[in-house]
This record gives sequence, C-alpha cells and structure tokens, in this order.
Amino acid sequence: MTNNKKAFGLLVVILAASFTPALAQQNDYPIQPVPFTSVHVNDNFWEPKMEVNAEVTIPYVLAQCKANGRMDNFLRAAKKLDGDKLSEFPFDDTDVYKAIEGASYSIQNKKNPQLERYVDTLINIIGAAQEPDGYLYTFRTVNAKKPHEWIGAKRWEKEEELSHELYNAGHLYEAAVAHYQATGKRSLLNIAIKNADLLVRTFGPGKLQEYPGHQIVEIGLSKMYRVTGNKQYLDLAKFFLDVRGPKGDPYNQADKKVVDQHEAEGHAVRAAYMYTGMADIAALIGNKTYLAAIDDIWGDVVNKKLYITGGIGATGAGEAFGEAYQLPNMSAYAETCASIGNVYWNSRMFMLHGDSKFIDVLERTLYNGLLSGVSLSGNRFFYPNPLASMYQHQRSAWISCACCISNMTRFLPSLPGYVYAKNNNDLYINLFMSNSSNIKLKEGNVNIVQQTEYPWKGKVDITVNPDKAGDFTLRIRIPGWAKQQPVPGDLYSYADQKSAPVTLAINGAVQSYTTEKGYAVLKRKWKKGDKVTLNLPMEIEKVLANQQVKDDRGRFAFERGPIVYCLEGPDNKDSLIQNLMVDKNAIANATYQAGLLNGVDVITTEGVGAARQLKSDNITQTNQTVKAIPYFAWANRGPSEMTVWIPYEASAVRPKPAPTIASTSTVTASLKNKRMFAAIKDQYDPADSKDTNFPYMHWWPAKNTTEFVEYTFDKEHTVSQSKVYWYDDGPWGGCRIPKSYRILYKKDGQWVPVKNKEPYNVSKDGFNTLDFEPVNTTALRMEIDLPVDNSTGIHEWAVK
Ligand SMILES: [Zn+2]
Repeated sequence: MTNNKKAFGLLVVILAASFTPALAQQNDYPIQPVPFTSVHVNDNFWEPKMEVNAEVTIPYVLAQCKANGRMDNFLRAAKKLDGDKLSEFPFDDTDVYKAIEGASYSIQNKKNPQLERYVDTLINIIGAAQEPDGYLYTFRTVNAKKPHEWIGAKRWEKEEELSHELYNAGHLYEAAVAHYQATGKRSLLNIAIKNADLLVRTFGPGKLQEYPGHQIVEIGLSKMYRVTGNKQYLDLAKFFLDVRGPKGDPYNQADKKVVDQHEAEGHAVRAAYMYTGMADIAALIGNKTYLAAIDDIWGDVVNKKLYITGGIGATGAGEAFGEAYQLPNMSAYAETCASIGNVYWNSRMFMLHGDSKFIDVLERTLYNGLLSGVSLSGNRFFYPNPLASMYQHQRSAWISCACCISNMTRFLPSLPGYVYAKNNNDLYINLFMSNSSNIKLKEGNVNIVQQTEYPWKGKVDITVNPDKAGDFTLRIRIPGWAKQQPVPGDLYSYADQKSAPVTLAINGAVQSYTTEKGYAVLKRKWKKGDKVTLNLPMEIEKVLANQQVKDDRGRFAFERGPIVYCLEGPDNKDSLIQNLMVDKNAIANATYQAGLLNGVDVITTEGVGAARQLKSDNITQTNQTVKAIPYFAWANRGPSEMTVWIPYEASAVRPKPAPTIASTSTVTASLKNKRMFAAIKDQYDPADSKDTNFPYMHWWPAKNTTEFVEYTFDKEHTVSQSKVYWYDDGPWGGCRIPKSYRILYKKDGQWVPVKNKEPYNVSKDGFNTLDFEPVNTTALRMEIDLPVDNSTGIHEWAVK
C-alpha cells in the first residue's frame, strides 16, 4: 500500500515536471517557420545545390576535419590517442559540431544510413572527450605541455577574450538539437545537456559573471530550452546578454549594454549571432527593449552598412562593420559566416514583425553574398566575398580557420525552412522555389505545390490543396526588387524608375489584391486544386548606390530579379574588366546559357574598353560587347579580374595600363604567392599606404629579414629612376615601411648596386623616388630590410 498523501505529492512533482515544457513555451515567435522537414524542394536552381552539399561538401568537410586534426583533438581529450598535439584554433571543435548539424539536416532531406552511422561514431568520441562534470573543450582537456595562448590557465579565465569555450558550447547545442530532431536519438543531446547544466551551475547572478567572447551560446541555449523545456537555459541565455558591457570592447559588442546598442559595430559574425540571439530571447520572454535595440541596429545596417550582395562586415581589420557608407569593393570582407548570420537574423526579424522587408534582405543575401561562399563543385570556399578583384582572390580547398566552410555545410540543407511561415490561419510564402509542402494551419492541413523557374523566370505557380475546403489567408511576398526598392531604405535605388507591374491570378483570373507589410493578402475559402499564379517582372535593373558610398560613385550594378551580376575576366575581351565602362542607358539583354556555370542567365550589353598610352595622357576607348554573369557563380574558372560595380563615368574607370618597362617585365620575389606579383606594376596609385582597395604585395608574417623583388625586362633598357610606394597598415595591421632598401641592377650576371644621386628615402603615403646614374640592363632588383617587429609590403614599383 502506498501512502496516499505521498503518492499525491509524487504525482504533483511528475505533473509539474512533465508540464514544465508546455508552460515554459507559451511565448515564442508569433510567426513560426514551416520546418524544412515539411518542405520538399524539387527545384532546378536549389535542388542541385543541396545535392552537391549532401554528396560532396558534407563528406569533404568531415574528411578535412579528420585530416586537419579535429577528430584527433577529441580522441586525445578522450585519452584514446597519445600525445598532446592539437590543431590550430581553440574553436576547431565547432567545425565537427557544425558538420554534424549539417549532416543531421541533410539526412532528413534524404536518408543516408552510412552518414548517420559515421555521425554516431563521432558522437561517441565527443562524449568520451567530455569531462565528468560536463566540461567539453578539447584544447584544455588534452592538457598540452604548451597550452594555446588563448585558453588561459583556468577554465573560462579568457572567455571574454579569445578562449571560445562558450562559442564551442553554443555550436554543440545547435548540433545536438539538430541531431535529436533528425534521428530521435538523445546521444548528442545528453552530452549537450550535461554541458549546459555545467554552465547553469557556473554562470549567473551570484556566480561567475562573464560574457561570451564570441556569441552563439545565446542561440544554442534558446534551442536547448525549446527542446528540453528547462527554463534555466533560457534564463542563462538572457544572463549572457545582460552581463555584456559597458566596460568591454566594441570588437565583440561589449562596450555598451546590449539594450543601449543602436548601431552595428565590431566583429560582424559575433554581431549577427548576438542580434539573432537577442531576437530569440525577445520572442521567448516577450522582451521589448531587446527588440527596440535590434530594430535600430537593423535600420543602421540596411541604410548604411549593407553590400548590394547582402554581405555585411566591410573591413578585414577586426573582421568588422565599417563606418557608415564605408563599403569598399576589392577589399570587401563580407565574410560568408556573416552572410549566414545575416540570414538567421533577418528570418528572426521577420518572425517578430511579419514584414517582408526582412525577407527582402534575407533573399538578397541568400542568392548573392552567401551563395558565393561555396564553389559550384562544392569543395572550394570563400571566407571574404569581395565585390571586385584583380586576380588576388581565389577560392580555397581548406582554410585553417574553417568557420565559413562548416557554416555553409550546415546552412544549405536547412534552406527549405525559410520558404514558408505561418501564424494561425495565415500562411506566408516568403521564397520562391519549386517544392511540395505539407503545412498545418489552424483550419487544417494544406499541401502547397510551387512550380517555378525562379530566379531566371518570374512566373510562380502555387497550387493550394487543403485536406478539406477552408478559410485561410495566403500572404505572398511581393519582393522589394519588383517594386523599385532593391533594399529597404535609401542605400540603393534603380537608375530606371519605371516599373512593370506584378500580377496575381487565381484559377486564371487576374485579381486585384491588397498588400499588408509587403505581402499580397489572399483571403478566401480555398479548395483543393486552387491555383495562384504570381508573375514578377524580371527586368534588368541598373542599381545605383547612395552618393555617400564613395567606392560606388560613377558606377552601377546589374541586377535581375534577386540576382546581382558581375563582370568577370573569362567572359570579356582580353580577360580585362577594370578598364570597362558601360553607359547608364545602355540596352541590356538576358539570355539563359545552359552550358555556362551549370546553367545561368547572362546579361550582355555594349560598352567601351579604356586604355592608357605610353607617351600621351589621352585615354583610348574601344567599343566592345560586355557580358555579365551572376555574382554567386564567379571564381569558378580560376583567379581573374571581376567587378560588381561597373563604371558609367570615365572618372571611375581604371584604364588598361600602358606598356611601361615595369608592366612588360616578369616579376620574381622572395614570396610564394605569385598572385601578388602583378600588384606592384598595375599602375594604380593608392590613396595612402594603408589603402587596401587595390592589390599590393606583402611579406607578412615575415619580419626582421631581408627580402627581394626583381623585374626582368622584356629587353635591355636604360634606366635611371626607381619609384616605390610602400604598403603600411599601421597601427593595427602587421606591415610597416621597411628599415631600409637598395636598388641593384644586373651586370654580367651579377647584382651590382646602382649609384644613387641622392640618399635613399623611406617614407609612407607617397612614392619614394630614387634617381641614379643611368645603367643599361635587363633586370632590376630591390632588396628590402624588414622592420624588426613588423613585415612590409609594396603597392607599386615604377622604373624609368
Ligand atoms: Zn567564417
């Protein structure tokens, strides 16, 4: 017999425990995404890309994680492998977590038992690497004799700086939730719970009060809260936001309390993850002050800090947001991770506000600055995504800091989750791609079938199949670009302000419709087989940037539908791009080329090529056909010249260099990276020594050594002058003007110093000219003594 009172007490405890999740989750986003598992994509544009991700990228990234020591880190922490060798960065564990997250999404799109088993073995290793109290961070647990300088002597000691202990935890949670939802297995989730419980015991009021040095744990804890119902995780996520600032660094958004932040600043990926986390927590607890802050920050980004490609984070210095309107093209950072973060953030902003302007930014980022991060082949990657190039950029097979690579792996299979969203009987259609989806509305289940050749064609057929006829509302996004508003705000506009209409038909009959917050609202009694046809005008637009963006003045960018275009070398005469100019009123045509870059629409127009001449300041102009390709598909044919922003004013053109002694010379140097060689003879004068907007040659990270660069002439020349412009990115960068340098010439196979007529001058922000007694020679050499504590570089080296 049981004691009734006791049994009742026990029942209450059980009820309370089992009710906790339901009670705790009363608040969340008012609009909910339709999960990607309900959306079956069969689209000519996206399905092949998702397949490449599943079949090439995921196995490739897992193999690279293994080859680059990431699995060994876990094995060593688990004492299953001897030695204390670790890979390069304390956040390397996250690449494995992100690959598991990607694999988990991917096996829900298409079963892959072999991949699932491999993930199981990885989870075993991860579990074995976890310390008994839940701590999981291989770089400390391995206990290396020479610990990484970022990790600190004790746990969390350098968390606010660079240890990334909480960053690792955040990615672990995201992977664990994805794996649990994909497989129903708790193996990784239990590891994550043990770790999150340790964080709950460690951090908080009256405990350790530190903020994460690199945000993401806030998003991870919110997901853990949704899955487990444990409110302590949500409280901790909020604590991690509230404990931030005001005495920290703008680099990681810790110089102000988060609610006092109204402009985007600092490291762009950290920022985007933080704004996403703030949105999550604002939704989960109904917090209005977080919302006010991220609303302001969003306005700052779209009005002043967003590339036309949707990229954010303009500068490589601190991988950070630049000043307002600081959007350089060739040196654009626009990290792939920041684009992915921008998609996460805008999807959350939409779910809070129900406004299509957020999806406009999301779509722009998705089709351009995010998609450019991975090659068509699926195994080459960009970290920064520049908007112009002079051969210095190329996709990498692997990057020791692999964040962007593993992020792409996890993002692409989750893409179908961004197509639809719902709120009671409102069904939002946000993105256009062919798919069949089963969606639960309050009124009942609805199957939606989209058929379209988007983004190449603007016709979208949407078939609505409710289980039984019922009243509900379709909210179909009318993209900003179809309404002469490429981006919310005044950062970008179209040169041609007339707009072709958007039409909507139901069962063949054109409808007039009202719009709310950017959505066409179709409210009626829907029955099986009802067909909505959306026609978006796919016109070629020329985008102009706000005059305050100095790098885009006198230039336009081609855009058609959601796709931003660029000019790339292989499609244009002599592979030259930077010398091209196209009239703002030039007529342009789009044609589909099935055989090019896996099938893309190209834009052709007529323009002129400009060239410098040797003995005259006149610039010659020659008519030529100019061809543009989608930006996301560039750099799949080797390094080349490229530009998104095309000059329409002569002042913006960079004419083809004149055939000088330097430009016709062969460059050799004490440098492995030959792609930098052309920089010193491209006849672009930098604005100052730290100007990164044009190519330069540098010896970083070498310091305190003697280096050289040589010009081997096309034939013997008489030379008597050298002019060198040093690259110096002080005080933050690693290059300074050199200690000293000297010029030598080739005489009978030997290097002989020239007889200088004046002392060598070494100064920055201008040419250092050296006149010397004329010599007849076939080659000139510069020897450079690097500073003791820094490297050096050269913008330009001219000889006469
Ligand atoms: Zn990255």
